[in-house]
Amino acid sequence: MAQAPQNPASSRAAMQMQLAEKFKSYKHVWVFVEIERGKVHPVSWELMGEGRKLADDLGVDLCGVVLGPRDEGTKQAIKEAYHYGADVCYICEDPLLADYRNEPYTRAMTDLVNKYQPEILLLGATPLGRDLAGSVATTLQTGLTADSTELKIADDKSLAATRPTFGGTLLCTIHTLNHRPQMATVRPRVMAMPEPDTSRSGRMVWHSLRMKEDDIVTKVLEFVSDAQVEKANLAYADIVVAGGMGLQQPQNLALVQRLAAVLGAEWGVSRPLVQKGWAPAERQIGQTGNTIRPKLYIAAGISGAIQHRVGVEGADLIIAINTDPEAKIFEFAHLGVVADALTVLPALTDAFARRLS
Ligand code: FAD
Repeated sequence: MAQAPQNPASSRAAMQMQLAEKFKSYKHVWVFVEIERGKVHPVSWELMGEGRKLADDLGVDLCGVVLGPRDEGTKQAIKEAYHYGADVCYICEDPLLADYRNEPYTRAMTDLVNKYQPEILLLGATPLGRDLAGSVATTLQTGLTADSTELKIADDKSLAATRPTFGGTLLCTIHTLNHRPQMATVRPRVMAMPEPDTSRSGRMVWHSLRMKEDDIVTKVLEFVSDAQVEKANLAYADIVVAGGMGLQQPQNLALVQRLAAVLGAEWGVSRPLVQKGWAPAERQIGQTGNTIRPKLYIAAGISGAIQHRVGVEGADLIIAINTDPEAKIFEFAHLGVVADALTVLPALTDAFARRLS
């Protein structure tokens, strides 16, 4: 006897019901609060702001996961997690969590997830967060969308995590339908920083690590501070001045650096300058470099390709200097100067130096 053909819409609905039944114990949105040497990375609070919206859409709690030694830094991180929107904090305090090591952090996080079953887990796409997210996702055998640029709750209540693909020419939206939790990482400065509410507090859930130093193969022998090394802090700078191929010669990068110095700004470059060895990779701005959200961004000799644009469009004010009036950067700059950057940059530097001295 021939079988009646299945209606695709009804079989999809049946599958959704099966998954909803399977995952009904998974609830709440979790954000990993990244602490390094007693300081919380600001991306954790940016994620808390985004997590708050997801939790409100789902009608569930927003929870912070705080892992660290028992000290003032951890205590402060717990307090601030509530200020930035957490309703609950899952806390694991242990001396083995003093310096980041993959094994104890993965164990603490995966044990917490297995015990309390969050439906969404967000981490910062920092070196630490990327390392942890990968091992947590593989240990739990769940899906992870790295470097997400947008997070939303879809109609079927799954997490829709959007990220660029094919060299930034397309955006793809990824859903983790068959596994829980749904994990995503987000780079610093991609999401806006929420306003803290210092009157907020919340519930604490304590967890013990149950690991010994002998269980961990990685040993921290010494911490060498790089405080003396001049480091780019583009992501969190208020003013950024950047140069592109329009500078023409590597020595002309000094014009960008001089203006940045006078303004107390950070300096950056477009990707070709890094590829040519004119500037270190940590100075690159854009999709595969730093995302910036300054109050003022001055772009000199930069065409405004999409891969550059996605890293700068969160700036409050973008001023572009370019000789080509048709340059793409003028499509999203707030102020455009059609002129030679090699003349305008020194003129601006002199004008600001006179004004600010
Ligand atoms: P060009 O595109 O060559 O533009 C130079 C501009 O300078 C032109 O608009 C020209 O009119 C202007 N100009 C020339 N002379 C002068 C002058 N004297 N004064 C003023 N203006 C002048 N790019 C990034 O920046 N960041 C990224 O993170 C990044 N990631 C990428 C990832 C992938 C996978 C790919 C494929 C590409 C990526 N790119 C990235 C490269 C990107 O596509 C562009 O090639 C790059 O941004 C172009 O750099 P530019 O604007 O400096 O150079």
